[in-house]
Amino acid sequence: MEKLANLEPQKVFEYFEEICSIPHGSGNMDAISSYCMDFAAKHSLEAVRDEANNVVIYKKATNGYENADTVILQGHLDMVCQKTEDCNIDFVKDGLDIYTDGDFIKARGTTLGADNGIAVAMIMAILASEDIEHPAIEAVFTTDEEIGLIGAGKLSTESLKGRKMINIDSEDPLVLTVSCAGGSDFEMNIPIKRTEVNGEQVTLSVRGLKGGHSGVEINSGRVNANLLMARILNYAKGICDFDIISIDGGDKGNAIPLGSTAKLVVHDDKFIIKINEYVNVIKEEISHRESGFVFDAVSNGATSVQAIENSLRDKLIFALLCAPNGVVEMSSEIEGLVETSLNLGILKTDQDKVIMHFALRSNKSSALKFLEDKLMTFSSCVGCSVRTFGHYPPWEYKDDSPLQRLYISEYEKKFGSKPLVKAIHAGLECGVFSSGIPGLDCISIGPRMHDIHTTAERLSISSTAEIYEVILNVLKNCR
Ligand SMILES: [Zn+2]
Repeated sequence: MEKLANLEPQKVFEYFEEICSIPHGSGNMDAISSYCMDFAAKHSLEAVRDEANNVVIYKKATNGYENADTVILQGHLDMVCQKTEDCNIDFVKDGLDIYTDGDFIKARGTTLGADNGIAVAMIMAILASEDIEHPAIEAVFTTDEEIGLIGAGKLSTESLKGRKMINIDSEDPLVLTVSCAGGSDFEMNIPIKRTEVNGEQVTLSVRGLKGGHSGVEINSGRVNANLLMARILNYAKGICDFDIISIDGGDKGNAIPLGSTAKLVVHDDKFIIKINEYVNVIKEEISHRESGFVFDAVSNGATSVQAIENSLRDKLIFALLCAPNGVVEMSSEIEGLVETSLNLGILKTDQDKVIMHFALRSNKSSALKFLEDKLMTFSSCVGCSVRTFGHYPPWEYKDDSPLQRLYISEYEKKFGSKPLVKAIHAGLECGVFSSGIPGLDCISIGPRMHDIHTTAERLSISSTAEIYEVILNVLKNCR
């Protein structure tokens, strides 16, 4: 213990080291939650732990701040557990082996969990202090953020009085995050019938595309492998007769698929030559953005097989080509922000249906709802059944945010320049809180971290001190 004893701010790193000694991977929240309750008891602070192991600790305003609005300070208790092959740490029962390396804190062989242990440590240092000036504080420590914002989703926000919230779950101190996307999963099921066909079986495969995160990379020109396959099949319709046995690609709704496979029965012995000619044209067209694209058309010989009824083939290709996909709308408030998008992440053929699984996102609730409505309309015209699930609310951008202004001003005093005000097209707990707390004024910030969710995760010591100082000055000026 006490590997971080000489670091400043001392209390922040003392708590961070304690947190690192307690196993707290997502889904393993008991011990860390108890630690928070013990901390509160030790400091005579009122605290509540709920069924999801979320902990809320209340601290009264310091002298002179009795009339100031309550501030919520928030971070998540769980960490992503990753380790190197030669690492013996058991995340269920062992703490981490942390060390310092220059300006960074790291963990030997594992993720560090500074995402988001450092937020919890900073907030505890504020709760424990007797000389930091601040309004009444509601410290909200949520569980299982990394596996779908689960704790935040189960937390009852009714007991929270605060209407200003500082979420400390960002990893770039230069950025002030002010909005995030909400989203949902949307599944279209196209019913199919099968019939016995004879002919040459050919497997087409699209591989080597870049893929990527459907929130972060949706506007970066990445080609969706399933849609590329649909384009190839659409062309094939014009050159010969064929039947589709199956078409599959992608395994996550929120990832742009990097490969897709179609199994066909073709009735033209020049098919492979003709299809390769066409794909060469596509290759040329997308070479600057998808240089790794590989296409194969392989004959598996003559066969007799259950293929999708030919009358449904064109409908399937139509659904793939004409359902919306990609960027739907850019924001007119925040430059460069994708406001609404969707990604056909999974395409899967079963015996009796083809499943198209989209991940929908929008930084505006009403736009997300409209996108769902639009897909519903499309689905009913194509004759698909639908299933929606995994809904999470957006954190909408607020033009007028006193907390944003205060943070920017205190940040500027410290660093001599303003932070970059940004919105992200992915989910954050702030979305859950802003949908549950009417009128919430919220910001998301944090100290410098690199390579979170990997064994190279590291936390900057100097940046932690700087951002902590800005937070203290924000609290001091929250009157
Ligand atoms: Zn996090």
